Amino acid sequence: MSKDWNKSTRAVHAGTRRSQYGEVSEAIFLTQGFVYDSAEDAEARFVQAGPDEFIYARYGNPTVAMFEDRIAAMEGAEDAFATASGMAAVNGALTSMLRAGDHVVSARALFGSCLYVLEEILTRYGVEVTFVDGTDLAQWEAAIRPDTRAVFFESISNPALDVTDIEAVSKLAHAHGATVIVDNVFATPVFSNAIAQGADVVVYSATKHIDGQGRALGGVILGTREFIRKTVEPYLKHTGGSMSPFTAWIMLKGLETLNLRVRAQTATASDLAQALQGHDKLVRAIYPGHSSHPQHDLVTRQMGQGGTVLSLDVKGGQAAAFRFLNALEVCTISNNLGDAKTIVTHPATTTHQRLPQEQKDALGITHGLVRMSIGLEDTDDIKADILNALAQV
Ligand SMILES: *Cc1c(COP(=O)(O)O)cnc(C)c1O
Repeated sequence: MSKDWNKSTRAVHAGTRRSQYGEVSEAIFLTQGFVYDSAEDAEARFVQAGPDEFIYARYGNPTVAMFEDRIAAMEGAEDAFATASGMAAVNGALTSMLRAGDHVVSARALFGSCLYVLEEILTRYGVEVTFVDGTDLAQWEAAIRPDTRAVFFESISNPALDVTDIEAVSKLAHAHGATVIVDNVFATPVFSNAIAQGADVVVYSATKHIDGQGRALGGVILGTREFIRKTVEPYLKHTGGSMSPFTAWIMLKGLETLNLRVRAQTATASDLAQALQGHDKLVRAIYPGHSSHPQHDLVTRQMGQGGTVLSLDVKGGQAAAFRFLNALEVCTISNNLGDAKTIVTHPATTTHQRLPQEQKDALGITHGLVRMSIGLEDTDDIKADILNALAQV
């Protein structure tokens, strides 16, 4: 791979390993094991496997390695470890580096399962976790201490779409030697520049935009070679959270079209956000890429564009939101995001149902809030569908 290649070229070519057949499309090495030429060869590989030598698919596999190398090249990271799901990546990044007595500072606005890992699992093993409002730098500054080992946040929070300043939080964390772990799903690898902005570790649920067609669960942890190979790999290869070769192949093919899909979905989301501003059935139309978003300047600086998700706060609470959802015909009620299909979710009763009311209030998860992950349907068709459904509220 040339150092001069842009992200979209890397997304198509980086990391390709061709077999002796010279296939154009990446091969699926659907094998868990690898044959050794001799007993001595097996012994040598267990002592130290070379960069293109494999032992067992839980440790690594050529198709998985292609996916890891390709996304690392796109993200500008030294290395990557692919995981069975986004949550295996989040849990793996945190658990592999933490031990009892460590302190972690995390944004409070998190995907439900991320919150569970930080609030329920890490604390069970003696890790202390302090939660802050991710948008408030003064809270980060007050919470990060000399013994803080890691900070964790979603660069754009789900579902209220609050944005955390990667550069500023990284500066505060690095002053105390803490590792910055960013869950960057909503930014997507297309708009991410997180490592250049100071993040040490970037995590994606590949289930979302990277697959982008609702087929497979997957995830990836990106960071320095030292962190990935010395900290993450030993933890994940022994605890079983590795990605399967077949999934890696789906994700590799997903990366080839990621740039086109995410840019098209973002263009539609941006268009819809503009069209829905001030609609009389809405309290608000929240979109990070619209000038009405309170952190629009930060969004422009950090990722350039607003991404593929917008959230609508429908006037009239849950009953009105449900009427809106049930009247949609193009948009699908589900809970994935980043998909080719436009997917609508009512977070208060589904993805964030578990949260107590005061926490929902603090996170802006109102009864009327609807999260919309914009897909690849025609912009006019989605717009007509939304306007028609709002008219029926
Ligand atoms: C979906 C998601 C995850 C979890 O990913 P899975 O692939 O479902 O395990 C983690 N963080 C964020 C922000 C997500 O949107």
